[in-house]
Amino acid sequence: MMYLGAHISIAKGLYKAVQTSMEMGGNTFQFFTRNPRGGSAKKLDEKDILKAQQLMKENDFGPLVAHSPYTYNLASKKTEVREFSLRMLREDFQRVKTMGVPYIVLHPGSHGGQGEEIGLELVVAGLKNVLAEIPAETFLLLEGMAGSGTELGYTMKHLGSLITQCDNHPQLGVCLDSCHLTGAGYDLTRLDELKHDFEKEVGFDRLKAFHLNDSVHSVGSRRDRHAKLGEGELGLDIIKSIIFDEDLSKAVFILETPNDEEGYAREIALIKEWL
Ligand SMILES: [Zn+2]
Repeated sequence: MMYLGAHISIAKGLYKAVQTSMEMGGNTFQFFTRNPRGGSAKKLDEKDILKAQQLMKENDFGPLVAHSPYTYNLASKKTEVREFSLRMLREDFQRVKTMGVPYIVLHPGSHGGQGEEIGLELVVAGLKNVLAEIPAETFLLLEGMAGSGTELGYTMKHLGSLITQCDNHPQLGVCLDSCHLTGAGYDLTRLDELKHDFEKEVGFDRLKAFHLNDSVHSVGSRRDRHAKLGEGELGLDIIKSIIFDEDLSKAVFILETPNDEEGYAREIALIKEWL
């Protein structure tokens, strides 16, 4: 069973979001744990959650993916930013647990000029703090980044070393993104090399989600601009090779392409035609 959906809003509740995803042809989706700029979170509505869970069960939905706001930065040089990120993340995990959502995707962080070594150390300290009280059956997914600015986590080595330094915690996973991989310098026409590298540094058992995006910029640009499927540097053949890869397709596929709901529906229909 392949799980495929798009990033959509849960502003009108979880049940409405499940309906929206179904209208697009999806059987999962991604949403922000709270406002992407990191404001306060809406109170959870238990009835809405139960209705949503029932609808997802009836329609064979896969696991949903929550994405944390871009304002979180475990590698910040400012203590208050790091503490804010930790406080919010711990709260987000309680919320997704209540919703029955297993995954929270996190950008590892940006070191802001402190250097990668110090940045990675700060991220490890933050991760350990969150993992110490992570609820059962939830996973923190480190996202592989394009490496723009002072972003960390753009190599398999970074991701692997973060996991190792967190004592290979079983609730740490990874989310890859075809646009970010391209920006970071991984040539997706040579998928075998990338997979070999990933297996060596991280391991496919940790790959839980995959952001399916085309890339405006070419391999190694260190830039992160998503394009619609087939309208970027990757093209449909590469997208297809990801979809049909037996290891990569075990992850939940999420579209984060610059689309409205109709556009997402078209891309989901396109992928389903291939199957
Ligand atoms: Zn992301």
